[in-house]
Amino acid sequence: MIKYVPELTDVVLEEIPDKVTLAVEISNCRGSCIGCHSPFLKQDIGVELTPDAVDRLIADNFGVNCFLLLGEGKDPEALLRIAEHLRVHHPDLERAVYSGRPEVEPEIYAAFDYVKVGPYVAELGPLNERTTNQRLYHHGEDITFRFWHKGLDPNR
Ligand code: SF4
Repeated sequence: MIKYVPELTDVVLEEIPDKVTLAVEISNCRGSCIGCHSPFLKQDIGVELTPDAVDRLIADNFGVNCFLLLGEGKDPEALLRIAEHLRVHHPDLERAVYSGRPEVEPEIYAAFDYVKVGPYVAELGPLNERTTNQRLYHHGEDITFRFWHKGLDPNR
């Protein structure tokens, strides 16, 4: 089972480039970021993110074209089941997950269109800082530079 915090669900424009994204905060985070910005997400809080809950959230937020899980929780099989549900029942939405781990398994890269990896390190900053250690991949391509300046060569 993975759980989300309903009151923190939001439609966001910044987290995934060029997408109108429905973002859900996943609890039971297994990350260990020093300087964690959301320690409450390490706790067993919220309610189960079931396929029905996913359907309801999408119906209530008509017009989104990406579904983002902010965190992975502690149940990888349940996470992959949600990704599969999205793939089969909501093929018009891209699937995204933010992980706080340095790396994730190949099946997670395969199940999601967008995968963010890397623990939060306060002195290196988040994705929109050039010094960041975090990376956002789209189908295996590193698109982190999209958070810096639109179209800028990430190697410059
Ligand atoms: S991924 Fe890191 S910053 Fe985010 S909730 Fe987990 S430990 Fe905290």
